[in-house]
Amino acid sequence: MLFSLLITILGILVFSFASTGVYYNASVEHSKDYLRVYMNAFTEDYAADGSGAAAFSDALGGVRVTIIDLQGGVLGDSEYSEELENHSDRSEIVRAVSDGEGFAVRSSSTAGTDLIYYCKKFTERGILVRIAVPTSSEWALFAKSLPTVAWYLAVDVLACLVFTYAATYFMLNPVKKITGEAAGAGTVTTKYEELKPIAEILNERNRSIERQMKELNEEKELVIKARASKDEFISNVTHEMNTPLTSIRGYAELLNAGALGEEQQKLAYGTILTQSERLTNLIACIINYSEIDSDDLPSYEVDLSALAREVVSELKPEAVKYGVTVTEDIDDNVKITSRRERLDEILGNLIRNAVRYNKRNGSVTVRVKYDCIEVSDTGIGIAEKDKERIFDRFYTADKSHGGKNGGFGLGLAVVKKICAKSGWKISVDSKEGEGSTFRIDF
Ligand code: ADP
Repeated sequence: MLFSLLITILGILVFSFASTGVYYNASVEHSKDYLRVYMNAFTEDYAADGSGAAAFSDALGGVRVTIIDLQGGVLGDSEYSEELENHSDRSEIVRAVSDGEGFAVRSSSTAGTDLIYYCKKFTERGILVRIAVPTSSEWALFAKSLPTVAWYLAVDVLACLVFTYAATYFMLNPVKKITGEAAGAGTVTTKYEELKPIAEILNERNRSIERQMKELNEEKELVIKARASKDEFISNVTHEMNTPLTSIRGYAELLNAGALGEEQQKLAYGTILTQSERLTNLIACIINYSEIDSDDLPSYEVDLSALAREVVSELKPEAVKYGVTVTEDIDDNVKITSRRERLDEILGNLIRNAVRYNKRNGSVTVRVKYDCIEVSDTGIGIAEKDKERIFDRFYTADKSHGGKNGGFGLGLAVVKKICAKSGWKISVDSKEGEGSTFRIDF
């Protein structure tokens, strides 16, 4: 605002100065015209001496009149009676001698006044007549206009202030409005075309911030979930380890105290051995479960038909022990791109579960097709409420049946993890008391 104010003030000053110059020049030109008219009144009646000059001056209302001979010698002057110096060097006289008339403007000794000289040659009489009238100097004219200029300046400053305030108010208000809206979470709107691109940019930025916040929140939730899952895993592992460790420690203390008879000592040694094995098994299972995540070994073509037959024959003795018949419905030449140990793990866990969670004289059917594996049993089945949870780590639905892995509840969790990693779909269909079917679709 200050800058525009300064520019206008400067503009007004320059303009007044320039117009004073124009006015001054016009007034000089005007003076020349009426000086010519004055000069026409100089007739033969006026003598070419001091008295003639004085008489002509009177006739013109008191302007200075000088009569000069063609060599510059002053013959008479209305204002000076004494002898004056030769005037041949004055520019208006030089011009009059050569061209018949001449003008000159010179500052007078009086402050703020200029004198306009007009000199005319009267050839027949052999004289030059010069008249001089005072006029305001350019500076005096400018000084005279200053009060008016000052008024204009005052009005200009006031107008400038009012205009700038109004313009700023009307221009900044919509900007303030969209800034306020942008600071909030809402959508920025404006009726001004010029501000619409800015509103769009702000809206886009707000939307992108919202997206990023959402992503951050989702990531935060994932981190919280992962932390909770890790805590739960550690607590489950600790719990599973505690039972065998308590048992081992108890029997070891009794043995150490020598408080057991021979039979009881044998039992104690046996229990310590079994529980140590269970601990070893548990650790192996946990390592196996954790390793699936970091296993990034390349896949290759595995003969699933051959592998399924191998696993079934390996588990046959255990099936016999449980009084369960295993039937194969395995298509030939089913090839799957994976890793042998992964498929072995899946088949082993599903078939072992089908044998162990079965009934006496029950049966298991292992089906292998080009696009799926299916393991069905006629066993105890799974309650509706457990169907989802049996795939969770350390979840065992039926505590009375000691599952494989010592019944840690990690088998199906391992199967689910391998399927998820390979992009396969695992599902279970079961009826309590009648049997279950686990199916993996490749
Ligand atoms: P584990 O067998 O070591 O307990 P799993 O993860 O293999 O652990 O199985 C989890 C639970 O799911 C088992 O404890 C069992 O209750 C149930 N389950 C698994 N397979 C079957 C099945 N074929 N029939 C009935 N219940 C089953």
